[in-house]
Amino acid sequence: MSSRRGFDSLGVAILILAAICSMLFRFTWLWEFWVAMVLLGVWFFWRFFSHRIDRRAKENEWFLARFRAVSKWFRLQKNRLRDRKTHRYYRCPGCHNVVRVPKGRGTIRITCPICKEVFVRKT
Ligand SMILES: [Zn+2]
Repeated sequence: MSSRRGFDSLGVAILILAAICSMLFRFTWLWEFWVAMVLLGVWFFWRFFSHRIDRRAKENEWFLARFRAVSKWFRLQKNRLRDRKTHRYYRCPGCHNVVRVPKGRGTIRITCPICKEVFVRKT
C-alpha cells in the first residue's frame, strides 16, 4: 500500500456522498441515485488504488481549498446570526475582508485590520 494513495479527505467525502446517494435510493427508488452511488464507489476505489500519488495529492489539495472556503462561509453566517443584536458585518472595499463592528454607534469610520483601508458605514 505504500505506493498507493489510500484514504484522504477527498476519499472520505466521496464515500459520504455515496452513502447519501444510497440512502436516497432506498427512500425514493430513483435509479439516478443508484447510478451516482456506483459511480462514486468506482471513483473512490480508483483513487484508493491509484499509483499516481502526486496527482491524487493535488486533487485532494484542490478539494481541501474548496472545503475550507465553504466551511469559512458557514462559520461567518453562524457568527453573523450569533452577533445579530450586538454587531454588524461589513466587507472591506479594498481587500474584501469581512470586518465586524459594534451596532448602534451611528455613522463611523472603519479601518480594515488587514489592508488599513478606511471606509464610512452606518451601524
Ligand atoms: Zn481591507
